[in-house]
Amino acid sequence: MIIFKHPEDLSNFIVKRKTANRIIGFVPTMGALHEGHIDLVTRARNDSQLVVCSIFINPTQFNDPGDYEKYPTTIEKDIGLLEKAGCDILFLPSLTDMYPGGITPTRHYELGFLATILEGKFRPGHFQGVCQVVHRLLDIVIPDKLYLGQKDFQQCMVLKKLVEVLGINTKITICPTHREPDGLAMSSRNMRLNESERKKAPVIYEALFSIKKDIKNGNFEQLKKRAKQLLTDAGFKIDYLEIFETGNFQIAGNYDSKKTFIALAAAYLNEVRLIDNIILNDVE
Ligand code: AMP
Repeated sequence: MIIFKHPEDLSNFIVKRKTANRIIGFVPTMGALHEGHIDLVTRARNDSQLVVCSIFINPTQFNDPGDYEKYPTTIEKDIGLLEKAGCDILFLPSLTDMYPGGITPTRHYELGFLATILEGKFRPGHFQGVCQVVHRLLDIVIPDKLYLGQKDFQQCMVLKKLVEVLGINTKITICPTHREPDGLAMSSRNMRLNESERKKAPVIYEALFSIKKDIKNGNFEQLKKRAKQLLTDAGFKIDYLEIFETGNFQIAGNYDSKKTFIALAAAYLNEVRLIDNIILNDVE
């Protein structure tokens, strides 16, 4: 695996190797890698001739400075995992390399209602920051395929919109969420949970799963109420818990066998904010 730190060096390397039949697969991350990230790399490895992974903790997507400061880094371990997964290139840029003109945004991305709901509502500016960094990364890596995790489902929707807004033909592949044996979605932030918080954390998955279990018969409002109760009983402070249609990504009222629904939640266990989602049904 080759490690690049400077955008120009990576761009030059890629431009020289970019030919019609050489697919470039790209996995952007913020590091502290786990099996979920590595699965994205493995999928990119299976589909592409050149696999690029980036590790950059992007300050512009953190609306809470404390969360940014406490974001974990495990770079030596990450390098080992990426090498083992067959990653060809690791891009490890500095802040000034990523934001040569400073972090103040120079462009507003038109994301429409997507940026105003769920994560967009509770983390103002978050998706603009995500678009700012991913736009820069796409300009440097020029990937044919971008691999993203369903764990951040709304981010996947936002990045699909970004690709459309930019008018580029990078294809997005959304990969399933990797979970711990007790159901907790793997996340770099899980490292920040203490022992007692870690024991309670899987309740976020259990709450979402309680909706899935009864989706066909239940009233959506009642299902959400019951799931929220499970979370509050376990000591979570809820930002949101909603049922959306996956097609139009709008809030859903009733079950309809011709549509696919997703339950999404974000909630705090003390200082640590966890998010998760599950698809609730297959179209019949
Ligand atoms: P992050 O490092 O948290 O910015 O995540 C980098 C990429 O890994 C994003 O596309 C995430 O959606 C994806 N990802 C994070 N956690 C998981 C997981 N548990 N399973 C699958 N993909 C994940």
